[in-house]
Amino acid sequence: MAGNRTFTMIKPDAVESGNIGNILQMITDAGFAIKAMKYTQLSEEQAKKFYEVHAERPFYQELVDYMISGPIVAAILEKENAVADFRTLIGSTDPSEAAEGTIRKKYAESKAKNAVHGSDSDENAAIEGEFHFDSTEVVA
Ligand code: GDP
Repeated sequence: MAGNRTFTMIKPDAVESGNIGNILQMITDAGFAIKAMKYTQLSEEQAKKFYEVHAERPFYQELVDYMISGPIVAAILEKENAVADFRTLIGSTDPSEAAEGTIRKKYAESKAKNAVHGSDSDENAAIEGEFHFDSTEVVA
């Protein structure tokens, strides 16, 4: 059964370009409720751990350097079918391939600097949410 929570980050490029508000508006307009949220900057250690699954990819260090280059917004979101519906809302990894009206189509700079993260499975949504928030930081 599909779960009802996902995890997102508004990445450094979208924070830098002043689009936190626009992106949060799109997220809430699409019916997601915010269950936890913080404005923070990742350490290199945190970014490496978060993206550990990509450690063997040639762009791993570039990805880590980008993710620590400025502040981010991390959030846990709730909606029926959250993971799949949020992936639809953000669009393809590469904004040039993302559908019209998606967050990445509107706000991402490139495949690397692509404005937002969205968990790719219920299992990873739970792991990623717990990576950034303890239970006292998540509303009921
Ligand atoms: P996602 O699930 O759509 O975020 O995409 P992936 O899991 O494939 O990649 C994770 C993140 O790595 C992406 O969101 C990008 O920020 C970054 N990324 C993906 N491909 C590349 C690439 O070719 N070069 C660089 N520098 N970063 C990439």
